[in-house]
Amino acid sequence: MSDKTKKNTFLEAIPTLPLRDVVVFPDMIFPLFVGREKSLSSLDVAMKTNKQICLVTQKFPNIDAVKRADLHDVGVVGNIIQMLKLPDGTIKLLIETKYRVKINQFYDQPNYFSADISKLEEKNGDATEVKAATRALKDKFREYISYEDRIPSDLVAAILELENSSKLADHIASSLPMKIEKKQLILAEFDIALRLENILSFIKGELQIIDTENKIKTRVKSQLESSQKEYYLNEQLKAIKKELGEAAEDAEDDLELFAKLIKEKSLSKEAENKAKSELKKLKSMNPLSSEAGIVRGYLEWLLNIPWRETKELKIDIAKSEEILDKEHYGLDKVKERILEFIAVNKRVKLLKGPILCLVGPPGVGKTSLAKSIANSVGRDFAKISLGGVRDEAEIRGHRRTYIGAMPGKIIQQLKKVKSSNPLFLLDEIDKMGQDFRGDPSSALLEVLDPEQNSNFSDHYLEVDYDLSEVMFVTTANSLNLPHALRDRMEIINLSGYIEREKLEIAKRHLIPKQISLHGLGKAELKISDLAITNLVRNYTYEAGVRNLEREIANLARKATKKIDSNTKLKSITITPKNLSQYAGVEKFSFGKIEEKDLIGVTTGLAYTEFGGDILALEAVKIPGDGKIICTGKLGDVMKESIQAAYSYFKSRAHEFGVTEEEYKKYDIHLHVPEGATPKDGPSAGIGICTSIVSILTSIAVDRLVAMTGEITLRGRVLPIGGLKE
Ligand code: ADP
Repeated sequence: MSDKTKKNTFLEAIPTLPLRDVVVFPDMIFPLFVGREKSLSSLDVAMKTNKQICLVTQKFPNIDAVKRADLHDVGVVGNIIQMLKLPDGTIKLLIETKYRVKINQFYDQPNYFSADISKLEEKNGDATEVKAATRALKDKFREYISYEDRIPSDLVAAILELENSSKLADHIASSLPMKIEKKQLILAEFDIALRLENILSFIKGELQIIDTENKIKTRVKSQLESSQKEYYLNEQLKAIKKELGEAAEDAEDDLELFAKLIKEKSLSKEAENKAKSELKKLKSMNPLSSEAGIVRGYLEWLLNIPWRETKELKIDIAKSEEILDKEHYGLDKVKERILEFIAVNKRVKLLKGPILCLVGPPGVGKTSLAKSIANSVGRDFAKISLGGVRDEAEIRGHRRTYIGAMPGKIIQQLKKVKSSNPLFLLDEIDKMGQDFRGDPSSALLEVLDPEQNSNFSDHYLEVDYDLSEVMFVTTANSLNLPHALRDRMEIINLSGYIEREKLEIAKRHLIPKQISLHGLGKAELKISDLAITNLVRNYTYEAGVRNLEREIANLARKATKKIDSNTKLKSITITPKNLSQYAGVEKFSFGKIEEKDLIGVTTGLAYTEFGGDILALEAVKIPGDGKIICTGKLGDVMKESIQAAYSYFKSRAHEFGVTEEEYKKYDIHLHVPEGATPKDGPSAGIGICTSIVSILTSIAVDRLVAMTGEITLRGRVLPIGGLKE
């Protein structure tokens, strides 16, 4: 070894700084704090020479009077680049470290420490091994720092860019939170591959710890969560138990109430036995079970429907007549029939006679008449609408075995009115359907049959219910009813109202009713007769007065608003002039006839479900051979009456001045307008005949004469019967 190399490798009496709790690595810049006097002196010496200093870590940090044995064997040499005196007398030092050294001799001088040191050459070992270890270390370090955020990210980036494996190892080791001894071991390792592996195994260990830590964390968390869950569930359970306690109390109350009701109500013998046995069953059940719920529901129904709880009837024919007259205008024949019915009812008491059936178009007062009847004899009023009812169960209920089962509509309504002898209106009995679910009309037959209805059986109730004191009244729009049903009933026809009647009904009933419903004073809204007639003609098209009532309600609403928003306005009078202001644009054109007399067009009279109307019966001739064609959805009777009219014409053609050759040149096409509505009946005969004669003789028909009536083959026109429309 030449002198020069020896000088580079061995250094003598270098000022030395023992480090208490830190290991420094080569080729870095370290800040250090120095406070011990001897250390400070060492620094002084270093500063006075070439600022070179040796740094070596103590084996035990708390030793002050350091001997050689207290120091590790390997340290680092560096240069002081900055010294800063802090106010408390300590010094902050910035040192740039250079390389590893071995402490050969340590001198505890009187004032300072110094050492003879020798540079340690690193051992490079197998290049591939080093390379592999380097790569593995970088990977693990990357993984490690993804969990560990104590190392600044720019430092990490700088470290990972290092090419030199030794430097890389030192930097990583320096940045890791290792124990002093461990760091010292790494510093002392001069075999690079080994040093790399050492660090690698440390990082792996750390990663494992982190992993375990995380596992523990999540376990703790889920333990926490599950204990929270448990707590929550427990709380809920407590709440439920509390509820249950109350529910159980309620159940107790129910039992008492049921027992009381069984005693107090005048149940039928069968019902009483049933109720008792159900109650017994209920007592032995867990009150919270769903079966108990079903039994309780059943008992609630059974004990809350009226059992022989009749309202006292006050049948006074004069009084009844008064009420019927007061509540309904006109309908004299109907009222008379009703009064007769009531009178008989009074005599026989339990009337095993027919059921009243009010038949007529909508809005003619069937429902309100039934209410008046109830009113006039002192019965409660119950009503079910049978329109669209297809299922027998709607009338008779579902068996208890079905979930959510309930009694049928009859029993439901009786429970509602709370009396066992109301007037029960079965509305729209003709609109009842039937399908695979059973025929509701058979159930209805039982209801309406006085011989059977004292033992009406509802599927849900299971015990018979006596309907014999109920007064049934039915309504229908048409007589299109099952025969058996129709046989049970006494039909009372209500026809549509004519204009004059509608006017009276409006004046006497509908207007006062709507005025009071809208909170108006009598003087505040007046509607002139002409305005009402206008309303009837141009705003409604109906046999009854339901839409008229709606239109009047509309007027009342508009008037109320107008009066309320104008304080000066005291009252409103509606006349034909201002009607459209309140009622809006006209909805129907009333009774429009042709502008002038026409050939082949006759004004006919018709009866439709909306009331009386006029219509134009049109005929045209087209080249042909004497056939007759008719259109307009005509029924067979009508078609036949057209044939009859034509035959009549042909038999009398010469009297009309038309020869056979002439009329045989043409086919006649007849059309009855409103082509979409089916029409039937013979009464268009005379009108059609007139149109045929007119078209074949080319004489126009007087449009101001409207006609109706069947024509016979001999040309007699028959009177039509009983149609006030
Ligand atoms: P329906 O049951 O025949 O369809 P509503 O009984 O519902 O008819 O009658 C419709 C409205 O017309 C009710 O407000 C009713 O009071 C009224 N009404 C019908 N006819 C008369 C009448 N003759 N007298 C008084 N109001 C009537």
